[in-house]
Amino acid sequence: MNIFEKIIKGEIPCKKIHENEKFLSFYDIAPKAPVHALIITKASIKDFNELDGETMKDMTKFIHEVVDILGVKESGYRLVTNTGKDSGQEVPHFHFHLLGKKPLSGNFA
Ligand code: AMP
Repeated sequence: MNIFEKIIKGEIPCKKIHENEKFLSFYDIAPKAPVHALIITKASIKDFNELDGETMKDMTKFIHEVVDILGVKESGYRLVTNTGKDSGQEVPHFHFHLLGKKPLSGNFA
């Protein structure tokens, strides 16, 4: 079981931001910006390659709710999802990073 699955099951604590029956959002343990949230599926989806459109549609609504809770809609934010080896993806469970509350670097790589 990967670490995000343990968080979903409540076996490992997290600083929860938002939750519904399909998704969970919590603060990253090693933040790269003043706001660094993770948004994960509760379903076992490994990465973006496995993601289906129906889940993405529902997740979009959920992410918009997280954006409102975090208060970053006006100031802006970055959504990132790492996929596979070259991206440096550490946790093989689909998630977005949401970073904000500071001007972010233009360097993506
Ligand atoms: P990725 O490299 O895209 O798979 O990102 C995984 C992220 O999960 C990293 O930014 C880690 O800091 C974060 N992370 C790992 N363990 C935990 C945890 N227990 N609670 C919150 N975030 C975590």
